[in-house]
This record gives sequence, structure tokens and C-alpha cells, in this order.
Amino acid sequence: MLFLAGDNFSSRNVFNSLCHQYLIPGFHVGVDIQPAETTGEIVEIKVETRVVMPYSGGGCLRCQGLIPAAKLQLEGLSADDRVRQGYFGAEGLRDVPEPSVMALNVLSVAPAVNDILMMFTGLFENEADMQSLRYLPLERRYFRVANSDPVPCRHCSLAKGSLYAMGDRARLPCRRSDQLKASSPNVWTWLTSLLKGSKK
Ligand SMILES: [Zn+2]
Repeated sequence: MLFLAGDNFSSRNVFNSLCHQYLIPGFHVGVDIQPAETTGEIVEIKVETRVVMPYSGGGCLRCQGLIPAAKLQLEGLSADDRVRQGYFGAEGLRDVPEPSVMALNVLSVAPAVNDILMMFTGLFENEADMQSLRYLPLERRYFRVANSDPVPCRHCSLAKGSLYAMGDRARLPCRRSDQLKASSPNVWTWLTSLLKGSKK
């Protein structure tokens, strides 16, 4: 079972590849808080528990439009190139605070953990459907999110060139260390300090 609580498109891409390449069910959890561009007033909050079953139509993030190629390409650029191409404007280089609200995160993670428990204990009823869940706290509304129809996809389909069920025979879309250092200097610094600390 895989569990993703990442904040960028590259991590979604690696997670979705892992699920389909190695046929592992996954959960993508997170909270999306959208402020109005001009006033900063919060206009939408979405609490997501996305289910990714490793088959076509099972919630593949690519098929749901959650891994746009253009965004992936921008994330792969160096910090300088991102500013040149207007990625988040000048904000792209600043450490923008991303507040986390524990009470909302719990709503996203708890259904996934319970699903994992029911799966591993075999307690799910046959009728239990594995659609993704969304909670809109501003409207106090909880509902299922239907998976979009399968499309030719290089993660979940059997089309030529797809990585579906390829296991170790296909390469995962992970960045090389030099690419990571150029595109995400803060992550690189954090990771290297973590590794140095673990050697002490
Ligand atoms: Zn797909």
C-alpha cells in the first residue's frame, strides 16, 4: 500500500507510476485551500482522500487530470528558469508559508487509514465502492468523486509504451540529484542535512 501526502506534481507522478508499474493500491491525501487572488480571502477549501487502484478506471491521477504535463515540465526547471517562465512569478523563489490545519488534515487521512484497515482485515463488504472522497468544510458537505472514464494513458492502460505492470523493466520518473539541486534548492539542502545527520 502506498500513501502520498505530497504537495507537488512531480511527487504525484512518481506515486502514480509506482501504483501502476508495480500494481500497488495507493491513497493520495491532502487539503487544498484557495484564496482569492486579489483580496486573499479564502474562497474554497477541499479535503481530499483520493483512491488509486492499480487498474484502468481505478482512479489513476493522470486520467483524472491531476498531473498536467505543463506543470510537470515547469517543476523540472531550475529555480532561475522558473522565474524566467513566470512560474508563480517572483513568488517562485520565496519561501511561501503553507499553513497546515491539523483538524482538516485528519479528515483527509482518517478515511484512507480506515480503508487500509478494512482491506487488510477483509472486512469490506462486496458492495463497498472505492471511489475517492471529498469534503467541503465551507459547505459542510462530504461526497464521493466519480473516476473519469479511462483514456489512453501511459500509466494505467495496456497501450504500447505504457509502464503498466512493468515493474523493474521500466524507469520511474524520479529526478536525478543534479536536477533536484537546481530545481528545488531548499529540498536539496534539507535532504543533504538529513543524510549528514543520520551518519553521525
Ligand atoms: Zn491513467
